[in-house]
Amino acid sequence: MKISKFLVFSLAILLLVFPLPLRAEKPIKIITTTSDLASIAKEIGKEKVEVVSLSKGTQDPHFIEVRPSMVMKLKNADLLILVGMHLDVWIQALIDASRNHKIKYGQPGYLDVSAGIEKLDIPTSKIDASMGHVHIYGNPHYWIDPENAKVIAANIARRLYEISPEDTSYFKKNLNKFNERVDKKLIEWKKKLAPFKGQKIAVYHRSWPYFTNRFGFIVACELEPKPGIPPSPGHLKEVIERMRQENVRVILMEVFYDEEPARFVAQQTGAKVVVVPNSVGGAKEAMDYFSLVDTIVEKIARALEG
Ligand SMILES: [Zn+2]
Repeated sequence: MKISKFLVFSLAILLLVFPLPLRAEKPIKIITTTSDLASIAKEIGKEKVEVVSLSKGTQDPHFIEVRPSMVMKLKNADLLILVGMHLDVWIQALIDASRNHKIKYGQPGYLDVSAGIEKLDIPTSKIDASMGHVHIYGNPHYWIDPENAKVIAANIARRLYEISPEDTSYFKKNLNKFNERVDKKLIEWKKKLAPFKGQKIAVYHRSWPYFTNRFGFIVACELEPKPGIPPSPGHLKEVIERMRQENVRVILMEVFYDEEPARFVAQQTGAKVVVVPNSVGGAKEAMDYFSLVDTIVEKIARALEG
């Protein structure tokens, strides 16, 4: 009897002295629509967040098949981060199905990180179905420009300050570290691509304007006749002529598109097909945002050198 009382007493003392395990902070549960946003969110939130991406880098982010398991993930989320600009429109049905009020549009748990991005390709004329899957708010493939990764990171950090004000200085420190690392890598990436500045390249889909602007390439033509419309023989004929005229030596395309049309054009023109991940996880070496850009830069440089 005496012993058990003593045990209870010591346990109580122990809990008073070491209350931490009992009061362990719960990480902020973040769901992102794409793997790139997950990678950047992890850099800012580190151990204070738990991040899950709903899509993989090997998938076309315009068309993600929605699944019940995604609804379950959203049900418990504190923060949903999306690319916006009409890219990940598939998320809307999932938000509704989750019935999680916290992540609804306008709530602190809903974050569209395209805010503050200098948007390209904003349509100036009226849009109709004949134009392909034109993104009405401009080109949404902005994450691939490292300068924009800093805008994304700042948007995420600001929202995390709001959700967890007591951790503001922690997130701020991580944001500064991330920005410094981007700036350092940008010098390296620019140096690597500098010899090819002004070169013309062909692309499969209109997903590269932010990247080509940043690194000084010119997109001479696209294999898709219109964004989202698969290459047709007639259009490819025009592409081949154009590439011959303008001495285009590289066809840049994402891992999830059909390689056959690109191989055909390459055969006719002597150009090289460069298949790259456009998102984190799109290739096994593209493990995070930095290695993703490393991979793209490396592959383009190697193709243009040859
Ligand atoms: Zn697109």
